[in-house]
Amino acid sequence: MTTPAARASWAAFVRRPRVRLGTLPTPLHPAPRLSEAVGVEIWLKRDDLTGLGLGGNKVRVLEFVLGDALQRGADTLITGGGPASNWVMLAALAARTRGLQPILVIYGEPAPLVGNLALAELAGAEIVFTGEEDRASVERGIDALAAQLRAQGRNPYLLGRGGATGVGALGYAAATLELVTQTREQNLTPSQLWLATGSCGTQAGLVAGQAWQHPGWAVHGVSVSRPVAECVARVATIAAETCALLEVAPWDSAPIVHSDAGDAEYGKRSAAADTAAELVARTEGVFLDPVFAAKGMAGLLAAAAAGQVSGPVIFLVTGGAPTLFTVG
Ligand SMILES: *Cc1c(COP(=O)(O)O)cnc(C)c1O
Repeated sequence: MTTPAARASWAAFVRRPRVRLGTLPTPLHPAPRLSEAVGVEIWLKRDDLTGLGLGGNKVRVLEFVLGDALQRGADTLITGGGPASNWVMLAALAARTRGLQPILVIYGEPAPLVGNLALAELAGAEIVFTGEEDRASVERGIDALAAQLRAQGRNPYLLGRGGATGVGALGYAAATLELVTQTREQNLTPSQLWLATGSCGTQAGLVAGQAWQHPGWAVHGVSVSRPVAECVARVATIAAETCALLEVAPWDSAPIVHSDAGDAEYGKRSAAADTAAELVARTEGVFLDPVFAAKGMAGLLAAAAAGQVSGPVIFLVTGGAPTLFTVG
């Protein structure tokens, strides 16, 4: 049934400027051997296959962020993150495809460029280190650079770590729509959708997608870099921004965020994550990156072992291929 409210939110969605970067829809497929090993029916949503560069969840985010940047007449994209950030690499690639100059602000002391930063340099990004380990030094660095560029008459578009904004999260509201179609086609009624959560934009988009599409599944994030309470608050705030853009009421239940089952530091391997990645590689032929997806899967496995998961569930494979080779 199409209500006036649904038509209004659809109109708000299609009005949002968007650039096509991804090869979408990505596959949604069953994972029978993994399901048998875990004792829960698990399906994989393959956002490692979104297509730009080496793929990953940030491609969906960038479709809306770059659309917004172009609409605002930006000539430069300034963003940042850690030295292993998938986000900065994909942001640099995406910016290049639309003629924007990418500048990346990286926390920490200058270091040789490996993995994602080497790929970003290959893509022609300018890379600046803050010299401070404090992750928030990225946002300070972005602001300082932007002021310099504006003084030179340039028009930079600024984005914090992970692209976690109301606009960026539209990417995963749109992905919800894609999943609603795919689950219908495959006659699947998932009870839960699991993912790894970092800067919280992806989960926020999925939560906004719940408010928009009422897909019938609960969204479960596994935090890999922030305290659970901080994630809950960030997801709710960003999701509310996205809902406002979509002209829908915010989702009324609190975001569900689990702590990292391995409790490892951000950017480091954990035994639980390594075990989860091994299981998925050996049953389904899919690689989970050690920083995000392997920890998300470890969270799902821990919940399944505790009897808290009844299938079918979807696990979002979020990409991060470059760190398969660089995180020791
Ligand atoms: C960024 C990232 C995530 C987490 O997404 P957020 O929107 O930052 O929460 C998960 N997996 C991979 C591979 C990522 O690069």
